[in-house]
Amino acid sequence: MPKKKKDELEEKLVYKPKFIWNAVDAKKRKEIFGFAEDYKRFIGEVKTEREFVNRAREMAEKAGFVPMEKAKGKVGEKIYVINRNKSMALIVLGRRDIAEGSNIVVAHIDAPRIDLKPHPLYEDKETFLALLKTHYYGGIKKYQWVNIPLALHGMVYLKGGKTVDIVIGEDEKDPVLMLPDLLPHLARKVQGERKLFQGIEGEEMNLLIGSVPLKKDEEGEQIKLNILKILNDRYGITEKDLIGAELEVVPAEKPRDVGLDKGLIAAYGQDDRVCGYTTLRAILEIDRPEKTAIALLMDKEEIGSETNTGSKSSFIEYLYSQLISLEDGSFTPRDLYGAMTNAEVLSADVDAIMDPSFKQVHEPLNAAKASHGIVLTKYTGAGGKYSSNDAHAEFVGKILELFDENGVFWQAGELGKVDEGGGGTIAKFMAERNMDVVDCGPGLLSMHSPMEIASKADIWAAYRAYRVFFEKNH
Ligand code: MN
Ligand code: MN
Repeated sequence: MPKKKKDELEEKLVYKPKFIWNAVDAKKRKEIFGFAEDYKRFIGEVKTEREFVNRAREMAEKAGFVPMEKAKGKVGEKIYVINRNKSMALIVLGRRDIAEGSNIVVAHIDAPRIDLKPHPLYEDKETFLALLKTHYYGGIKKYQWVNIPLALHGMVYLKGGKTVDIVIGEDEKDPVLMLPDLLPHLARKVQGERKLFQGIEGEEMNLLIGSVPLKKDEEGEQIKLNILKILNDRYGITEKDLIGAELEVVPAEKPRDVGLDKGLIAAYGQDDRVCGYTTLRAILEIDRPEKTAIALLMDKEEIGSETNTGSKSSFIEYLYSQLISLEDGSFTPRDLYGAMTNAEVLSADVDAIMDPSFKQVHEPLNAAKASHGIVLTKYTGAGGKYSSNDAHAEFVGKILELFDENGVFWQAGELGKVDEGGGGTIAKFMAERNMDVVDCGPGLLSMHSPMEIASKADIWAAYRAYRVFFEKNH
């Protein structure tokens, strides 16, 4: 029949990404929702890079991973390396020499947030309030972070190498911190005439932390002193200790299902801990891969992958030199560059999915859609692909073939239409090491906001993609 012929031809020639919910059976659907519950628990508790590394180490040790110092170099051996408590590598040694190639999935575990200034605490005499001065981290729309409950997470150095971890605002009974916004009645001029992004300025992001004096009718800054006393009683810290501290202000909300059908998740920090978590889950489940599998969980992507815990750091070269030395005890620069040249990388980072209310920033044919699978982004950058990793046809082709052969749901996407804006990821820093790399992660709505939104189907698709890559990319 002519009609059937046309369908066959269409099937052969035309490509359309699949809507996952239409493509899976009831059993798979249950698996997707089950995976999402594990993910929600994790991302609701892990809100900083340090907390991620701590939790990942616990999970890795339970799964039989050992620190590099104890590694023997046997096939199938599971190893981890932690760099300054803020970035981490997990490795499963493959059957082949690392010189012949290795499979890396690299995600970042930092997220946009609000940091404290070195001298954060002050008492405002005119308003009888104590506040914290802040400095935002990463590309946020500052006005989104006001009037929501905020928690304080971090670490303070005390003396002689001793440190204390701080988490305030996560327990139901805990107080929270707030950035108060101006009432609309008085905001018409001072805020109404500003551009949206300047609605709240950096120096207006002053966090409420206190309002009760330590002693009544006393001179001095009694409200500030009260806060310092509370901090000292609880954590043993003084005002001076705050100077070098890493205290991160993050949304206090727990992850929530979105929609009556519960298909979406709203949570803080999904860029890029959704990739961090799915990469971690994938590497923990790998046994004796053909090629050595490496999960890199990196810090500082949101500020350009800088510092020694970011992806520009020689931590990655050092890791490769250690892995090469494990094989036969020797190591030359040629071995190092050879191994890196033959490495293949998925840069696991989120992309934008098409926003239903701002379609004009997307080009519909090339915009990623919710629940259509992991988004393969061949290039990012801005303008004429400036500052982008533009993945090679051979590598993209190979990865898509791998995904198709193993039932991974994927779609191609780009970060907005041409000249609309842009962004970058870790991909280009891996390409600088002569590795083959392509961006590949789930799409988000409300990216970089206090509650980012992802599809449960896409999260599951990302996990499947990374696992298939580790297991089957030869
Ligand atoms: Mn990211
Ligand atoms: Mn980001």
